[in-house]
Amino acid sequence: MPKTAEILAIGSELLTPQHIDTNSLVVTEQLNLLGVEVVAKHVMGDDRERISQAVQDCVGRSNIVILIGGLGPTEDDVTREAVAAALGLELKLSLEQESILISRFRQINRPMAKNNIRQAYLLQGAEAMPNPHGTAPGQYLSTDRGALALLPGPPREMKPMVINELIPRLRPVIPPQVIKVRSFRITGIGESDLDTLIAPVYTKYTNPVTTVLSSPGDLLVSLRAQAETEQEADDLLREVGNPIAELLGDKIYSTNPDEPLEAVVGCLLRKHHATVATAESCTGGLVAARLTERPGSSDFFLAGYVTYSNLQKQQILDVPPNLIQKHTAVSEPVAGAMAEGARRVSGASYALATTGYAGPDGGTDYDPVGTVYLAIASPAETRVIRIRYGADRWRVRTLATQASLDLLRKMLLKS
Ligand code: ATP
Ligand code: MG
Repeated sequence: MPKTAEILAIGSELLTPQHIDTNSLVVTEQLNLLGVEVVAKHVMGDDRERISQAVQDCVGRSNIVILIGGLGPTEDDVTREAVAAALGLELKLSLEQESILISRFRQINRPMAKNNIRQAYLLQGAEAMPNPHGTAPGQYLSTDRGALALLPGPPREMKPMVINELIPRLRPVIPPQVIKVRSFRITGIGESDLDTLIAPVYTKYTNPVTTVLSSPGDLLVSLRAQAETEQEADDLLREVGNPIAELLGDKIYSTNPDEPLEAVVGCLLRKHHATVATAESCTGGLVAARLTERPGSSDFFLAGYVTYSNLQKQQILDVPPNLIQKHTAVSEPVAGAMAEGARRVSGASYALATTGYAGPDGGTDYDPVGTVYLAIASPAETRVIRIRYGADRWRVRTLATQASLDLLRKMLLKS
C-alpha cells in the first residue's frame, strides 16, 4: 500500500484573512519527492482539544502526520500538550534540550524567560530535531503506522528542519515510492464537454489520480501516479494518458503544465521562421499583449493595431468603407479585411484580427452581445470564424483572445 501523509498547520493567525499556511507547501513538496502523497491538510487554531482530536484521527488513518507551529514558549503554544494528550504520552523534560536552550540564550546574550523551558519538553519516546535558527527543537516520533513530527512555525526555521532533519529520518522508514505527473494543457473545448469525453477513461482508475483544473478557455488535466518504481509509474501514466491524448487530439496544446498558449505559438512561429501582426477591436490589444508577454517575442511579433473606431479600421488597415457600411464592423467580411490589412501593412507572414460585441451593451438580432468574429490571414488563405460567447465582458475578451491565439497555433501546425 502506498504511504500517505496528513499535515496539521497550527496557529490561530492562519484562520484570519491576513495569514495563509505556506509551510505545508514546503512539506508537501518534500514528501512528494519521497513518493508520499499528502491526502489531507488541516489548518487549526491554537486549541488544545481540537488539535488533540485531529491528531488522534490522523494517526489512526495516515502513515505520516506532520504538525507545524505552536512550539513556542507561550501559553497559547499548545501543540506539544495536545499531541501528548492525543497519544497518551507524557511530556518529559530533556536535560539535553534544557542545556541547549540555556546555552542558546547565553549565546544571544538574552536572559531566558521562565516559560522558555516548555520548549525543552519532549514527547515520551520522541527524538529532538535540532533547530539552528530558533529555540524550539522539532520532534520526531515513530508510530504504529509510521511517524509523527512536530515542526516550528516560523518558515525560516521549519524549512531547513524538514530538509535536513525530517526527510532523512523518514527516508529509511518509507519503502521506495515515486510520484510522477503527466499534464495536458487544453483549449478549444469547455470543461463539461472535456469531462464527458475523458471521464469514461480516467474514472476507471484511482491511481493515477486525475484532476481537471479550469480557467476561461484553458484547461489543465493532470494525472498523478504513485508507484514503487519509475517504470511502473510511467506505465500507469501511459495506460491512462494515451487514450486521453488520443481523444483530445490537437486540442492539447502543451504537455508542459507551465507553458501557456502564447509560448507554444511563439515556439511554432520561430520554428517556421514566421512573423505575426494583430488587428484588434473587441480584445483591445489583449492578443498582442499575450504574444509579447515573454522575452524574445520581437523575433516574431511585428505590430499590433488596436483599431476601435470604424475610421481607424479604414485608415490604418485599409478596410474598405463600403464593407463596413454594408456588413457593419462586427462581421465576417470586416474581420477578414482587418486581418488582411494588418498582414499587408506590417509585412508579417500571419495576421490575427478580432471584432465583436464584448458587451454588456450593443449587438444586433443576428449578432447578439458576446458574438465575436476571429480572422487569420496567412500567405495561403484568410479564414474567419464566428463564435458566440456569454455576455460577460471580461469572459468574452479573455475567451476571444485565447481562441485567436489558437487559430494561429492550428494553422501553424498544419503548415
Ligand atoms: P514561535 O516560537 O515563534 O512561537 P511557533 O512554533 O510557536 O514558534 P507559531 O507561533 O505558530 O510558531 O508561528 C510563528 C510564525 O510563523 C508566525 O509569524 C506565523 O505566522 C508563521 N507561521 C506559522 N505557521 C505557518 C504556516 N503554516 N505557514 C506560514 N507561516 C506560518
Ligand atoms: Mg508561537
